Amino acid sequence: MFRPGTDETNVQYEDVLCNFCHRAWDPEDPARPLIEGHHGSHLCGECLSIAYRAIVFDGRNDRTEGQTCTMCLEARDDETWQSPEFADACVCRRCVKQSATALEKDKDYTWRRPVG
Ligand SMILES: [Zn+2]
Ligand SMILES: [Zn+2]
Repeated sequence: MFRPGTDETNVQYEDVLCNFCHRAWDPEDPARPLIEGHHGSHLCGECLSIAYRAIVFDGRNDRTEGQTCTMCLEARDDETWQSPEFADACVCRRCVKQSATALEKDKDYTWRRPVG
């Protein structure tokens, strides 16, 4: 997401916010990259780690009927993690897995999926 009032012709790093924690992108922090979803949605590495742990290790599923994933905009049957802070932000298992794989391949970042 973008900070309200962002000049869309001149978007700065600090205008890009994680939909799940509303913290701004800090390009100096290689451990907290931002993954881009559809329609300007973003998921940061920190929230991705929390979502990964919740879905993959804890088997958590916050999905409610008809809910669409903030990142892929699809209403999937996958397990879903919902941000504890911002109830309108949720991410499905597929997006969590894809994001984790993409981030691990990206040499600019040090993010690694949680283990155990
Ligand atoms: Zn976040
Ligand atoms: Zn999704």
